[in-house]
Amino acid sequence: MSRALTRRADLADLAGYHSLQVDAEVKLNANESPLPPPAEWQERLADAVAGLDVRRYPDREATELRQRLAALHGVDPSWVFCANGSNEVLQSLLLAFGGPGRSILVFEPTYTLHAHIARLTLTEVVRAGRGPDFRVDVGEAARVIDRHQPAITAMCSPNNPTGRAEQPETVARVAERAPGLVVVDEAYGQFAPWSALELLPGKAGSATGTPAIPGTRAPLGSGLVVVRTFSKTWAMAGLRLGYLVADPEVVAGCEAVALPYHLSAVTQVAGLLALEYHREMMVRVAGIAEERGRLEAALAGLPVDWWPSDANFILFRPRERTAQAVWRGLLTRGVLIRDCSRWPGVQGCLRMTIGSRQENDRFVDALKGCL
Ligand code: PMP
Repeated sequence: MSRALTRRADLADLAGYHSLQVDAEVKLNANESPLPPPAEWQERLADAVAGLDVRRYPDREATELRQRLAALHGVDPSWVFCANGSNEVLQSLLLAFGGPGRSILVFEPTYTLHAHIARLTLTEVVRAGRGPDFRVDVGEAARVIDRHQPAITAMCSPNNPTGRAEQPETVARVAERAPGLVVVDEAYGQFAPWSALELLPGKAGSATGTPAIPGTRAPLGSGLVVVRTFSKTWAMAGLRLGYLVADPEVVAGCEAVALPYHLSAVTQVAGLLALEYHREMMVRVAGIAEERGRLEAALAGLPVDWWPSDANFILFRPRERTAQAVWRGLLTRGVLIRDCSRWPGVQGCLRMTIGSRQENDRFVDALKGCL
């Protein structure tokens, strides 16, 4: 008897969300850190892992990690939820707060996984455009929010793949207007000049708890959710750790849908140790921001359109050659970047991750050769 291996009808044509994994000497396609975590962290992690009693399930609440993250951001631990990368955080949010009869508002072009997870969770996707500088237009956002009353409004700041952070006023105004959660995906938050953490009521990313811009703090119960990851600044993409900071009601919703013991003991201990190297990581962020300036200056002298970035990547569009031809030309020269030329709203564009100084030089030389 032949078995019917049929998928869910609504997902029959679904391709998994994957970026191309090809080998290249210079990998600038996935917005990863150009440097590994500090050597001392690696040694301490090896020791800590050797000392784990892996017969036992890990702490289901990731208590210590949540406490340390809460201390980092000046919030109570009940405001923190951790998961396997920020992708799992986003999935938890959609499982708990999306679903049939509910919608998520996304501003395209943006990180396509928001809409992808929405589809998996039967959450309707409402799409709005962006202003000419790729920032969210508050008027357009208000119009779409009023019309669709989304359960979740997702903003990516800095936005992937376009690179700009939203203005504090934009996030605060959207948080005031939106009826449900306002999720600010800050996967690249450390590279930006400000964080939506500063808008959270009753606390802040700053020591004083005073909003950087008076009047911008979101009102209590505004449903503002800030999502962060250890994959970029912390150079831990391979370990899969992300978290959110939000009202305890949001945290409780995510906990309700999380699989038991979803966050392994190794991941928890890696995160805990990483937090001890916060200063070192911020030094690296400053180095990447400096390289970003150097790359922007280099792009300015080439026949490409490019967009200023607040993240660890830059979006650009070749003027005289097709994106695919340039992407292939770079790969032939050993440099892999991201081809987003078919993504909605960024037709003809490519995205390069800021690497080490040497990698960036290789990229610029290779790009000159391709243009
Ligand atoms: N959000 C954005 C905007 C991203 O670009 C990425 C990584 N591509 C993620 C979330 C997911 O990161 P991770 O699951 O590794 O934390």
